[in-house]
Amino acid sequence: MAQSSIEWTQQTWNPTTGCTKISAGCRDCYAEIMHRRLRAMGQAKYAEPFNVVVTHPDELKRTFGRKPTIVFVNSMSDLFHKDIPLEFIQQAFAAMIAQPQHIFQVLTKRPERAYEFSSQLIWPDNIWLGTSVEDDKQLDRITFLQETDAKVKFLSIEPLIGPIPAHHIVGVDWVIVGGESSRRARPMKHEWVEAIRLQCEKEGIAFFFKQWGGKNKKLTGRLLNGRTYDEMPITKQLASSTLLEARQLTWENQAEVRDWCGGKIWSKPPLRAVSGLFIPTDTGQIDVAFGDYILKYTDGSFERVDQLAYYAGNYEHS
Ligand code: SF4
Repeated sequence: MAQSSIEWTQQTWNPTTGCTKISAGCRDCYAEIMHRRLRAMGQAKYAEPFNVVVTHPDELKRTFGRKPTIVFVNSMSDLFHKDIPLEFIQQAFAAMIAQPQHIFQVLTKRPERAYEFSSQLIWPDNIWLGTSVEDDKQLDRITFLQETDAKVKFLSIEPLIGPIPAHHIVGVDWVIVGGESSRRARPMKHEWVEAIRLQCEKEGIAFFFKQWGGKNKKLTGRLLNGRTYDEMPITKQLASSTLLEARQLTWENQAEVRDWCGGKIWSKPPLRAVSGLFIPTDTGQIDVAFGDYILKYTDGSFERVDQLAYYAGNYEHS
């Protein structure tokens, strides 16, 4: 387990290591580069070459504490690689199910195997399943992902190296887009990103723009259309335990929301958006998710809260 510098998660957990390349998006695989470094440093977990997939049963005993955390599963491997037995995948799922306070993001380039095993796995709200799609040659991955029983589904469109027909982006809760970041990075066109973003807007899919990438990703940054996009999927997990229910309502439905929240009146916050997800809390107050941030209702006013922070524990309302 390690803190992560990846913008859309908080920690990483690698119950398996090693992988093999299967498509163009794997060309400059970050896991392979890191694996080589860690192996050269003599780290026992990375003693085998990258192309040897190793399961680490000890990692299944890892716990992530009481504070809700977002965990990226297998940044250094692929949980649905053919060399990982179903039994081990089931054990990894059991470890995630035993920690319902955390969100586990399982990202795979082999969603056909996730689909094959889907009925033999338990899919609680806190296990999100995503697949990587780098260009229009990998659209089948979206179909396999859609057919799984995962409650929360996402696409990592990174590195985006070619246009993706936007109408294929349906039936998922979250889309992350990013350009390739390496010395020989393949360029990503603004129009490709914008087509995906507009489709997400149309379908009500949360959209996260990670980076432009290139040789120096710090220089190119992560502004799209002059702003950042950091949306996260609102899940049923938010509605569990501390929250009563999450419902999709529009700002125009204020009267309905007010009735629903027991007549509580709130002043209209200064918003550029006019619709959002109203999240009633167990105290009868509401929070509002507006695109890439959440307005937390406290003492008669709204406080703007970063979504990651919100997910990671700020929804334990007092
Ligand atoms: S599937 Fe992921 S981890 Fe495996 S080689 Fe490709 S990019 Fe690397």
